[in-house]
Amino acid sequence: MKLIKEIQPTPNLSIILPGGCNGKCSFCFWKKTDTHPLYVDRLEQYLTLLPNIFTQCSITGGEPTLSVFLEPVLELIKKKGYPKVVLTTNGTNIMNNIDLFDGVINHINLSRHSINDDENYKIFNCNDVPNSDQLIDICNSLNKINIDLNLNCVVSDNTLGAEYVYDFIDYAKTIGATSVTFRKNYDADDLELISIDELFSDFRTTEKSCPVCKTRCKLICGMPIYFKYSLKEPSDHVDFIYEAIYHPNGLLTEDWHGLNEIKFVQESNININIQKINSAFSSSSNNGHDHYTSCGQSRSRSYTSC
Ligand code: SF4
Repeated sequence: MKLIKEIQPTPNLSIILPGGCNGKCSFCFWKKTDTHPLYVDRLEQYLTLLPNIFTQCSITGGEPTLSVFLEPVLELIKKKGYPKVVLTTNGTNIMNNIDLFDGVINHINLSRHSINDDENYKIFNCNDVPNSDQLIDICNSLNKINIDLNLNCVVSDNTLGAEYVYDFIDYAKTIGATSVTFRKNYDADDLELISIDELFSDFRTTEKSCPVCKTRCKLICGMPIYFKYSLKEPSDHVDFIYEAIYHPNGLLTEDWHGLNEIKFVQESNININIQKINSAFSSSSNNGHDHYTSCGQSRSRSYTSC
């Protein structure tokens, strides 16, 4: 079986785990939906149907570490053997699940929106996300099983100064994180640069972009710092499949709203025009850096949540 619609060259599969979230962030897009009684079985079927062009998978929520579906989903992902598996989390229940991650997850995006614990609690609107001491333990435990951790900070204030970035980098180093991502708040729904990105315009920058998202990487104080931009609903802006999203209600769709189900046909009836779609994607570097990350692949999670 093949997808009935054209698809971008490096698609991401995002799996939204049922179960909700302990946080109540003002910028959260996660919407509660019913959980299909055969949620895991249907996911297994889709993993069989999806073409090999899907090589990376993002696990998201809600808060995936609080979901009872985390373990069975990781088992399926492990069986499938995706080379790149990313978990995005607010970190709440991560220490109780670390044993499940070994050999499945490569990378963790942990949401952290302030270097100050109390301010961070306020943004999450809950105080059971990890504090700074707990984050150090989390990083240590993850590093022991070769999982690196990126701190993901949603930027809602476009007047922040360079000090904010430097302080965040110092904090990330103290914690033991390997990178920081400053993500533009989706409410803006455009790809215009945020001020703290422009403040570092004279730094070497690697950019990967596509019609619906942009990732700019700079090496600042020896740490890869990402500035990420995405449109709220990519599928509204492209006429091909940008990514596949598996929802708690058991549907695989090409949109985060969960309205446009992905269809499959017999292979002989399909003509995937990869070259045409390739032309919509670009990558560039203003100073010859290697690419630190890829665009259009792991936008994932931050849409629904952290
Ligand atoms: S943004 Fe993430 S942590 Fe915040 S409420 Fe949404 S899912 Fe929870």
